[in-house]
Amino acid sequence: MAKQYKIYSLISFQHKLATEQACIEYLALLRWPEGYRCSKCGCQESYQLRVRPRVFMCSAVCNHQESVTAGTILHRTKLPLLMWFWAA
Ligand SMILES: [Zn+2]
Repeated sequence: MAKQYKIYSLISFQHKLATEQACIEYLALLRWPEGYRCSKCGCQESYQLRVRPRVFMCSAVCNHQESVTAGTILHRTKLPLLMWFWAA
């Protein structure tokens, strides 16, 4: 029984990660409909921070960081984005 539970929780954890990522990608699409563009230097290349996946960092020298939730009601929320999607 314990083993089954462990497998189940692993699957739901991965599922949660996948859906959180889907939410982030959706928000990123709303923020940058034509693809990422750094608001400081105009660079179109970015990467997501591993520890804070909601934050995109400019891959040019300016290293500007921009959250997909910046300027929205979701900014600074500690809740999983998915919760807000359910609430909406
Ligand atoms: Zn930049």
